[in-house]
Amino acid sequence: MHTWSLESEQTASEIFAYALERLRLHPVPLDGPRTPEELEAAAGETVTASGIGAHAALRIFTETLAPACISVDHPRYLAFIPCAPTETSMLFDLVVGASSMYGGSWVEGAGAIFAENQALAWLARLAGLPSSARGAFVQGGTIGNLSALVTARHWARTARGDAGSGRGRRFALVVSEQAHSSIDAAARVMDVEVLRAGTDDSGRLCATGLTAALEAARSADEVEVFAVVATAGTTNLGLIDDLAGIAEVADDSGIWLHVDGAYGGAALAAPSTRRRFVGIERADSLVIDPHKWLFAPLDCAALLYRDAAIARAAHTQHASYLEPLEHGGFNPSDLAIHLSRRARGLPFWFSLAANGTEAYTAAIERTLDVARYAAREIAARPELSLVREPDLSVVCFERLGWTAPDYDHWSESLLASGTAFVTPSKVAGRTVARFAVVNPETTEADIDLVLDTMR
Ligand SMILES: *Cc1c(COP(=O)(O)O)cnc(C)c1O
Repeated sequence: MHTWSLESEQTASEIFAYALERLRLHPVPLDGPRTPEELEAAAGETVTASGIGAHAALRIFTETLAPACISVDHPRYLAFIPCAPTETSMLFDLVVGASSMYGGSWVEGAGAIFAENQALAWLARLAGLPSSARGAFVQGGTIGNLSALVTARHWARTARGDAGSGRGRRFALVVSEQAHSSIDAAARVMDVEVLRAGTDDSGRLCATGLTAALEAARSADEVEVFAVVATAGTTNLGLIDDLAGIAEVADDSGIWLHVDGAYGGAALAAPSTRRRFVGIERADSLVIDPHKWLFAPLDCAALLYRDAAIARAAHTQHASYLEPLEHGGFNPSDLAIHLSRRARGLPFWFSLAANGTEAYTAAIERTLDVARYAAREIAARPELSLVREPDLSVVCFERLGWTAPDYDHWSESLLASGTAFVTPSKVAGRTVARFAVVNPETTEADIDLVLDTMR
């Protein structure tokens, strides 16, 4: 099974034919989940001692398994945060899969890492970070946020002279209620406290809220705040915290500023929204997920550090068998919680190189236009009420007279009929419908079609 054979030729043509067909589908079917029992009945036992052969396995995949996975690139997949990879990025993912590259160390993956670093440098420039900023592509925003916060705590520990000993007050980080759930997950993993800072009326973390949280922590004298996490594009509403105000306070208080731009950071490339990010250039660390709004396939998150030496001190794994990598150059594995690593930034790099950054700007602006259209249309329809004007491409709204079960039924029937994938959320305790538009193929007509089902 490791030797290329006539059978491999046959499998190759079947696989390439399927991949081509999937890439050419326009639009893709929405598809949807099946129960384990349904899948068992249709697929049967696929893992056997003698193997069922590639042809049979591929047939089970194409006929049963693939249709039981929602197409995240469907133009009316508007739930959570969709993923809408460019054609070139998906094609290049095939190449990465066929190339057996190791992306963890320069010694092994120099060419891949060089290209990834150019893509990271583009993101760092968009954010206004210094040209010395460095980073790595990690699996997702969750691992990116955790890795950045571990770096921040290492920095704070070093500053108070207890590197690793755990002496002294417990560490705490400050966030707003609107921060992503992965920050709480990171705090649990790290066993640090989470302090919630108040927001302004619109729900943005601001200097006043941060200052109050820091003062409360100081006077209680029970915890030591090491970092503040600002969100540049909240998942639920697309809000951008007051980054400039937060950066000022973080600077004055000597705490680390991590900016979570997993979803919203892409809009740095959009002139119509760039001004909302002022202050982001002062971040100590920053996460932007190309698999969300920068049209890369899953899974790909960019983690950037102002000073990667601190990340290296926090994360580098040491072992006799790893010593040959230590002086070989720039190792992405040293900057986060990972070691073995797929060169997952390459599909993003290839598409960026092939299409040029202007195409990205245009595609992001297109999604913003459609989100603004959705907001106008919602405001104009008597049965609907817009929760707030979108800052970015997330739009939350209410259907007057509906209760939570009405939203659930509506969402389920949209998926069951293959029309759209739209899931409810909550804002200030009230159930709302929510669109997240990150697919440039989503049109005004798609929005109308979904809104019409709420009449
Ligand atoms: C999606 C998201 C995350 C988590 O990213 P994953 O790639 O899903 O791990 C973190 N923060 C924000 C603001 C997000 O929108």
